[in-house]
This record gives sequence, C-alpha cells and structure tokens, in this order.
Amino acid sequence: MTVAASATVVAEEIVRSDVLITRSRVCVGTGSEPTPDRVAGRLLAWYEPRRDAFPWRQAPGPYGVLVSEVMLQQTQAPRVVGAYERFLAAFPTLEALAAARRAEVLRVWAGLGYHRRAVALHEAARRIVRDLGGRVPSDPGELRRLPGVGPYTAAAVASIAFDVPVPAIDTNVRRVVARARLGAQPGDVPAPRIAEEAARWLDPERPGDWNQAVMDLGREICRPRPRCAACPILDGCRARGPGPGAARRAPRQGGFEGSRRQLRGRIVAALRERALLEPRDLGALTGFAEAEVLGALEGLTRDGVVERVGARVRLAEG
Ligand code: SF4
Repeated sequence: MTVAASATVVAEEIVRSDVLITRSRVCVGTGSEPTPDRVAGRLLAWYEPRRDAFPWRQAPGPYGVLVSEVMLQQTQAPRVVGAYERFLAAFPTLEALAAARRAEVLRVWAGLGYHRRAVALHEAARRIVRDLGGRVPSDPGELRRLPGVGPYTAAAVASIAFDVPVPAIDTNVRRVVARARLGAQPGDVPAPRIAEEAARWLDPERPGDWNQAVMDLGREICRPRPRCAACPILDGCRARGPGPGAARRAPRQGGFEGSRRQLRGRIVAALRERALLEPRDLGALTGFAEAEVLGALEGLTRDGVVERVGARVRLAEG
C-alpha cells in the first residue's frame, strides 16, 4: 500500500521508526519536527500496554465504566481494583444495584471511603432503571443529571463506554494539556482555554483510549514535578518542564489523621459491624469526642449514608 503523508486510512496500529499508522491515521515523520498526529500516535502507543492494567478497561460495558469512574473520583486506581471487583461480584448488573438495600451497598463499598459516592451511585442506578429504561445514557448532558456525576465523570463515561468524542478533563489532564499544548502551567491558563485545546487535541476515532492515555500521562509522567525524560511526547511538548513556580503550585493534601473524613470512615466501619449504635458508643469506638461524632453524624445523615432510629443510628436502609 502506498500512502501520502496526509492520507487517512483505517488500519491496525503499527509503529515503526519512521512511519506510524494508527487505526485512523497515517503519519510520515519528516525529521526533527514531529507532526501533531505523530505525537498523538506516540501517546497512544505508550498507553497501549496500560489498556489491560485495570479490570474496568477490559470492556466492562457502560455499567462497569460508570461504577469505576465513580470509584475513581477520589480514590487512586490501585486501591479501586479490589473494591471494583467486589462491587461487581455483589451487584453484577445495574438492576441488581438498583434493587439492593442502601445498607448493603454501603457494606460492599468498604475500604473506599467518601461514602456519599456510594449513595449517589446507588441512587443513579435506581434512576436509570426507573426513568431511563435501564440503559446508562450516552449523552454527557443526560449523564450529568444523574446523582454524583459531574462534568468529568460524564465525559469519561460517554467517551469510554460509548466512544462519544468529548474530552474528560480532570486535574491531571488539565496539567498535560496546559503544558504540552499551550506551553503554560494550568494555573496560568483560563479553564475554557484548556477545555477548548483539550477538545481540539482529542482523537475523535478513539476518544475513550485517548482520554485515558492523557489521564495516565498526567498521573504517571507529567506530574506536578514532571518526569520529562520518560515522556513519550517530549519532542512535541511546548513546555518540556515544570516551568517556574510548579513546585509551589503542587497541591498539598490536608492531613488525614484526626480529620472529619477519618471520623466519618470510622463511624461507617463501626456501623458495618454493629447495626445500631448510640453516638456515645461511636465516640468510644472511633476514639473521637462525642461532640465531634455528633457533627459528623449530621453530615452523614444529610448525605444519606446513615439514618437515625430514635436515639441510635444505623447505615441508611434505603
Ligand atoms: S515533556 Fe514534560 S511537561 Fe511536557 S507533557 Fe511530557 S512530562 Fe509534561
């Protein structure tokens, strides 16, 4: 087959030193200046072995993608693996999740924390079964109307599960796009400009793979302190480095020990073991003062994670 540098063909992905063919593109390198397609091809080639790194990347269907994306919202991927497999074993379908009791969902969510995500996912499943014929919507706007689904999660589900060409933009992606495409730091570029550039950069033929490749790059390589020497798109990057002030801008995590988040996790863990408890019991079991327990219980009740039964509390039965 003879192709010109600008030709577009459909083919399996093949990478050689001078010619790169993706499923949708043929790009012939011309020497020192890599073409945008060639840079994109390198990123997808770098991502290829990572496709099977996590169970939710092995064609799990829209329900599995939705579950994984909600779990990944505030938990790192390696910690999600076991929880994801347990969750799908307990609730293998959307219908099974929708029919489950809230307390059971919260029990299976063990180990992930941020329990309001479990409540929202449970409610989303019920809404999909009740109002949407049991089918996870493919439209990002419709996805965003589901509980617990924000712009990032909606775009991730739409692109990964349905090949809808929308960029999923989280902190990692924002950093990569700002640096690689705009030669700037994310804090120095307005969010709409980054979104516009992310949409332009997206591979419309493989939006799910593309979004996950950029996410992986931001998480593993283009970190707040970037590892540019290991970056597959180094020669196509407009920043090639952290830029001044990057270290100062690196987000700092608040302390977990003694935090409200730690207390909420301990309360839910205690209620998984014993169905009904009084706040003072929870004080003793969690190691926090009763006043702090009462404050945390207010939030957990508001989020639908626990409910009051007289003077005692339990996991919400829903
Ligand atoms: S070359 Fe460096 S700054 Fe550019 S995308 Fe790669 S890791 Fe990020």
